[in-house]
Amino acid sequence: MKTDNQTSRDRAEELVTRLRKAYPDATCSLHYTTTHELLVATILSSQCTDHRVNQVTPDLFKKYKSPSDFAYADTVALAKDIHSCGYHNQKAKGIIGASLMIVEEHDGKVPNSMDDLVKLPGVGRKTANCVLGQCFGVPSMVIDTHMVRIMNLLGLTATRDPKKMELELMNLFDPSDWVNLTHMIIDHGRAVCIARRPQCYKCILADICPASDSPS
Ligand code: SF4
Repeated sequence: MKTDNQTSRDRAEELVTRLRKAYPDATCSLHYTTTHELLVATILSSQCTDHRVNQVTPDLFKKYKSPSDFAYADTVALAKDIHSCGYHNQKAKGIIGASLMIVEEHDGKVPNSMDDLVKLPGVGRKTANCVLGQCFGVPSMVIDTHMVRIMNLLGLTATRDPKKMELELMNLFDPSDWVNLTHMIIDHGRAVCIARRPQCYKCILADICPASDSPS
């Protein structure tokens, strides 16, 4: 007889197979050309849409071309440049603080370990996991609002605490799927499992989702 954990692993595998088919091109939607640019874009994306961030970063990255440009930027001027992303004062301080530490303690290079990344001002596990997975090829799982909501609906976790959820899901999914899983779930959350009106009737996961309101 299968244990609950084994059953959840089977469902997790099935989930990935179906999502891969539905969202073969799922990828990070933030635009960047360097690791530091992704770090900045990810800090900006907190409580903001990726679409909005992508509207702001082209001019931003033209004005501030390197970690040092951000590190020694004027806080008020930077806050003004990122104003439309929300929480601009807090984000400006975070970006400047993180960039300063990168310049002064890491020779201008974004560090490639969770321990060092989360020591950077303004950088939490979500941002660190994003950078590790996208730029350093480290298996890592970003837990954003789509992941919290949809993984709970699917019954693959019962917690809403991102760190606890990250550890639980890492136990269920194959490490090679961690990075892409978030991208596929974000695509699914935007296209079908929309926050206030999930469209279960056309969901490819309806028959394996306990929250489905569509009879399978
Ligand atoms: S069946 Fe409904 S609630 Fe479940 S994942 Fe699909 S859209 Fe979301």
